[in-house]
Amino acid sequence: MSVFVQEVTKLYGSQKALDRVSFEINSGEVVGLLGPNGAGKSTLMKIISCYIPASSGIVKVNEKDIREDSIAVRRQVGYLPEQNPLYYDMYVKEYLGFVAGIHLPSRSIKKRVEEMIELTGLSAEQRKKIGELSKGYKQRVGIAQALIHDPKVLILDEPTSGLDPNQLIEIRQLIKNAGKEKTVILSTHIMQEVEALCSRVIIINKGNIVADDPVEILRKQSRPEKVFLIEFDRQLKADELKSLDFIKSAEQNGENKWKITSKGNEDIRPALARFANEQNLLILSLAMEESRLEDIFHLLTSQ
Ligand code: ADP
Repeated sequence: MSVFVQEVTKLYGSQKALDRVSFEINSGEVVGLLGPNGAGKSTLMKIISCYIPASSGIVKVNEKDIREDSIAVRRQVGYLPEQNPLYYDMYVKEYLGFVAGIHLPSRSIKKRVEEMIELTGLSAEQRKKIGELSKGYKQRVGIAQALIHDPKVLILDEPTSGLDPNQLIEIRQLIKNAGKEKTVILSTHIMQEVEALCSRVIIINKGNIVADDPVEILRKQSRPEKVFLIEFDRQLKADELKSLDFIKSAEQNGENKWKITSKGNEDIRPALARFANEQNLLILSLAMEESRLEDIFHLLTSQ
């Protein structure tokens, strides 16, 4: 077991930010932590990284208890906080050397800094001050500092927020590479990011876990019915479609185009084809909409 969280509660004064949260993460899993603002994601990540203590509950990283053996846990965890706190007046190389010095013996620092600069694509920018870097490159420095001691568990708090589309792709690729050999927990608001990077999703709402499933299973749960987009070669009345017993609703979204919701969870494309045949209609296009993670996220976090 890579990360073990049992009945963890966190109180800030009288406010409960986490309420008896429990889950386990196996080595090598890449887990997305989703939830609206204020759900408790950062609090949970700070607790696992030993930045703040839990009010109660047990957290273990690779069998080490964060209260009993916090130094051993810190050795195994790399953490990129949400605001990526960097020293803007330090040079990239200087800063990474400084962070490496916290973890490693002095003889290994130079080589490790060079490796990290190479790995995170910082070579061209390595002689600049951190304050002079673009946001994407600052994130690379943040990821480099999180990886510098070769931790087994990588915790990234909204690593791609505020990046432009190109930077986003590059940082995702970096995370993907890191995820090949590490356990990764990352928080994000972006569903495509979860789909691109994570094998499993934990959704938190108001300090409680409301879903913990593989991405595929969560997506399947997201809608009890299926949605189809169809285009006929001529106009139809809504009633003609709605009278069919396998259709729950039909909404016109173009001249001869319809958005149809099925009554059950079945694929009604063959039934639609039969209907069209009987009515002498031609189907110009027909597609089943993929159910989306957004839907389940909205469903689970809107109360
Ligand atoms: P998220 O990362 O999901 O946005 P957070 O873990 O940052 O959520 O916050 C969870 C709740 O705890 C929020 O209501 C937030 O205002 C509160 N909170 C977070 N940090 C502190 C703090 N240091 N002192 C008091 N309340 C806090």
